[in-house]
Amino acid sequence: MLPPSAAISTVVNTHANGDHSYGNSLFPDAEIVSTAANLEHLCAEPAPEQMQTLLDRCQADDPFQRYLLAHFGRYDYRGLRLTPPTRTFSERLTLQVGSTSVELIEVGPAHTVGDLIVHIPDSGVVCAGDVVFVGDVPVHWAGPLGGVLDACQQILDLAPQVVVPGHGPLIGPAEVRSYMEFVGEVRDRIHSLHARGLPVQETAQVLLREHRRADLGLTERLAVLAITEYRHLDQATAPFPLVDMLSTAVRLAPGCVPTSIPERHTLLTDFGSRT
Ligand SMILES: [Zn+2]
Repeated sequence: MLPPSAAISTVVNTHANGDHSYGNSLFPDAEIVSTAANLEHLCAEPAPEQMQTLLDRCQADDPFQRYLLAHFGRYDYRGLRLTPPTRTFSERLTLQVGSTSVELIEVGPAHTVGDLIVHIPDSGVVCAGDVVFVGDVPVHWAGPLGGVLDACQQILDLAPQVVVPGHGPLIGPAEVRSYMEFVGEVRDRIHSLHARGLPVQETAQVLLREHRRADLGLTERLAVLAITEYRHLDQATAPFPLVDMLSTAVRLAPGCVPTSIPERHTLLTDFGSRT
């Protein structure tokens, strides 16, 4: 919820995924800051109108389309314009927000090609974007997972008191370390199965079968992690579209398809009523 009289003059996109950048058009007068790599990556993301078209065509009797409806169909993307960053940087940029210094640090490729984290030294806060997920198995589209671990180490090196993940509740350094342990274990298992010559689909199935962390939901993302890591291990150069990665994951983990689909609500109306 926005404070009633606040004027927002600067918006930072930690990465280009739609759930972190579609809101840019709601701030027409703001400077939108992100990494140069994120600006480039934005072109590979589905635009809001493409998401809307995709969802409008989804049929609930097809498992993957049902999955999309369950996760994205609750939002109404009509009226949102794809609004790219207006100011980009590489490596580091310091912004001044009133009397507060805000450091932007490029840590990608990790979750996506151009991830950045936001460090507010005076408050001991680091906003991690989707480098860190809490409560669910993480999904990482670009990788490699070693890049995610390096990015997490950069977060810890800033000695934060509070870490704001891209999804989930606020955490501290101890939870970042335990998240790194999980990501490291998944990476090591993928590497050993790859070394044994298992095709990526079989590796994904092994990960799903061996998953013991009942506290982490969205386990189908383990398949995405396998696809991402295999692309690096096999030195694949062609981009793997995000929707294809997700449809492969859903095919390999059919149990993730929900039986009921939530009611659609209007994101813009919802947002507007609270501003
Ligand atoms: Zn993301």
